[in-house]
Amino acid sequence: MSPRRASRKSTSGSIDANILTLKFMAMHMKVGVLALQGDVSEHVAALKSALIQSSIKGCVVQVRRPSELECLEGLLMPGGESTTIAKQLDRFGLRKPIIEMAGSGIPVMGTCAGCILLSSEILDQGIRPVEPLGLMDISVRRNAWGRQVESFEMPLKIQGLDSEFHGIFIRAPRIERIGAEVESLAQVEKEHVMVRQKNILGLTFHPELSHDPRVHALFLGMLKP
Ligand code: GLN
Repeated sequence: MSPRRASRKSTSGSIDANILTLKFMAMHMKVGVLALQGDVSEHVAALKSALIQSSIKGCVVQVRRPSELECLEGLLMPGGESTTIAKQLDRFGLRKPIIEMAGSGIPVMGTCAGCILLSSEILDQGIRPVEPLGLMDISVRRNAWGRQVESFEMPLKIQGLDSEFHGIFIRAPRIERIGAEVESLAQVEKEHVMVRQKNILGLTFHPELSHDPRVHALFLGMLKP
């Protein structure tokens, strides 16, 4: 176990908490972006801005191989096309290590297709079924807001942000069920569009396209030194 991982344990008591804060300020965070398909460079740029906004020293790396998951403090799975990303996950042997990484408590954020892959159930699968990772107790329906031309934008009230965030929805999935452990952080017409279950964060919109790093900063806030 690396020293970085070992330090996750000592969170109780005020002295420990102070030490943890100092470590957080001194340490260098490494955040990965799954780079198989989709909005990879946009997420890398948004995470870099969020690191600066949050005054966290760190770097953002692109992940295509299981070895590149090692020593990450967090992983972001971009939107794109879930059928393609799922195929590539299996092709590069990334499915099991990502499940294990999330199981060990490391935060994972998924946007749109990434959120579909985080889910435990994809409803009404067509001729090209996608096997999700099952990291979050939610049921999703792909493309349920309509086709590409029916993509939309709207201001969102997001728990943890003090003003509205510009939400961009592109062939977004609907989250049709959330489990008892899942918290809803933002809604559109009573539909959940941002959900969290412990260390897993799922969004059906594209924060990387809004030129506003606050959602990525919220994710960085979930990372532990
Ligand atoms: N509709 C896509 C899918 O099912 C997701 C779209 C997106 O990520 N913008 O994978």
